[in-house]
Amino acid sequence: MGSMSDAGLTLDLLGPTRPAVLAHAVSQSTSAVLITDASVEDGGPLIVYANPAFCRMSGYRPEQLVGRSPRLLQGPLTDRALIASLREHLRQGLPFAGSTVNYAADGRAYTVEWSISPVRDAAGVIEYFVSVQSDITARIAAEQERRLLLQALDAAIDPILITGRDTRVVFVNEAFARLTGYTPEEILGQSARMLYPSHQDPLFYRNLRVCLREGKPFRATFTYRHKSGRPIHVEQSIAPVGDGRGRISHYISTGKDVSERVERESRLMEMATIDSLTGLLNRHAGAEQLYRLVGQAQASVRPLSVIMADIDHFKAINDVHGHKAGDDALVCVGRVLKSCVRAGDRAIRWGGEEFLVVLPGVALAQAMELAERLRSKVGAARVNEMGLFSLSVSAGVAEMAAGESASELLRRADLAMYRAKRQGRNAVRS
Ligand code: GH3
Ligand code: MG
Ligand code: MG
Repeated sequence: MGSMSDAGLTLDLLGPTRPAVLAHAVSQSTSAVLITDASVEDGGPLIVYANPAFCRMSGYRPEQLVGRSPRLLQGPLTDRALIASLREHLRQGLPFAGSTVNYAADGRAYTVEWSISPVRDAAGVIEYFVSVQSDITARIAAEQERRLLLQALDAAIDPILITGRDTRVVFVNEAFARLTGYTPEEILGQSARMLYPSHQDPLFYRNLRVCLREGKPFRATFTYRHKSGRPIHVEQSIAPVGDGRGRISHYISTGKDVSERVERESRLMEMATIDSLTGLLNRHAGAEQLYRLVGQAQASVRPLSVIMADIDHFKAINDVHGHKAGDDALVCVGRVLKSCVRAGDRAIRWGGEEFLVVLPGVALAQAMELAERLRSKVGAARVNEMGLFSLSVSAGVAEMAAGESASELLRRADLAMYRAKRQGRNAVRS
């Protein structure tokens, strides 16, 4: 009594009704149960009992099974090595668990998972083997389908990202990992935000959130950050994935790497707005900025000033030192201009050797100071590393008057500049 297990004690509590209860339990169990005798040699063991669930699963009637070897369930796809291992376990009186293909009475193959235990009498001699089985064909098929879907996602050329509702990444395909430079392990479980550059427009993400909250797909060009820090541009669609009960459970993003196109466009944009020699705004882009800033300054009643600067005796520089030296002089003045202006100012190569600086929010006195600083810095610079020759500029400064147009303002700055030329050059006038 003392060595009896908890289960044994509980069964004993069933008292004299025990055998009947067990028989009902086994026959009415939804798990398939097959009991064989213990004859492991001579073609055995043989089936002594199959419950109704087993008969339903295999399509055999009990009388077709009893007295036969379970071998009748096996067929071409049955795993022979597994069956050999099973027989070896039974021969040694050991339990066994495994899964293989069996065949139903009508020849249909199904995948079965069984666990087989020896049943011993009071003296410890094995009397039976009891096998509890389940048909896992549907589960195997689902697993194969899942594997196929995962392989297909990985084989896709375009990057795919799946996040939960909280934007934590639950899946990335190989193309996404390649695109971003991160391994899947480095991304999984992280917030997708780790890939967004911090300078992205907040309005963009608000639109995205509103769209997705309403259950609509969102399509846009996203700028991600590669592991190395460089931006990656992805033309991406994000669609909500439902949980089947009307709630959003995940978001799937599919995209196309358009970094090359975006970079080409931004290079073209740059070519259209930047003067290639000096790196300053070109006249076309500069004029656009001037008209816009003058409009804004007039509307907000804030000051705005301009400086028109022209290199003195530039023709002589070209004639004496050559055209290349002339270009170097232009680069030199461009560099001085860039070093003097603040973030909101605009430095423009206005003509051949003429430069315009637009200073929003700046009144005349401050603009004169800046022009003077420019003049003296240009004067101190030596063109060519060898210090071959020096330069000077003459500059005209004008502050925008109320109601004045951009072209009137420019004309006044030009007149002031010519005054500086007439009065000896290397000078600033207003
Ligand atoms: P001033 O002091 O009166 O301004 O005399 P200047 O010689 O500078 O004026 P002018 O307008 O007579 O000459 C400007 C010259 O600038 C004409 C042209 O040969 C030269 N130039 C214009 N654009 C470029 C350029 O991109 N590169 C070079 N090297 N020279 C240029
Ligand atoms: Mg000149
Ligand atoms: Mg000139």
